[in-house]
Amino acid sequence: MHELSITQDILKSVLEECGDREVKKITLVIGDMSSILDESVKMYWELLAEGTKAERAELVFKRIEGVFICKKCGEEFPIKHSEFKCPKCGAQSFTIPQRCKSFYIESIDL
Ligand SMILES: [Zn+2]
Repeated sequence: MHELSITQDILKSVLEECGDREVKKITLVIGDMSSILDESVKMYWELLAEGTKAERAELVFKRIEGVFICKKCGEEFPIKHSEFKCPKCGAQSFTIPQRCKSFYIESIDL
């Protein structure tokens, strides 16, 4: 349910940005490991943005694929096909880069 507060934050930033102009498009970047669902954001957006300058804005989502970085050899590989094992050296110890967990507004079109 954390999409609700996230969507509130997005709307707040967008409205601060746009002043009294109409917002046409908002591009959001979501890391695959951030556990944010596009659909939930969209759903809350429709509820929250209603009656504001952003109510007709199109939401565009850009996904950053989730990857692991092997702690042993530094290999970077997608989580999807990894079977939780480094494809290069077989180690099972990883870190997830910050960008895969991030979420931010890339651009606002007025
Ligand atoms: Zn490795």
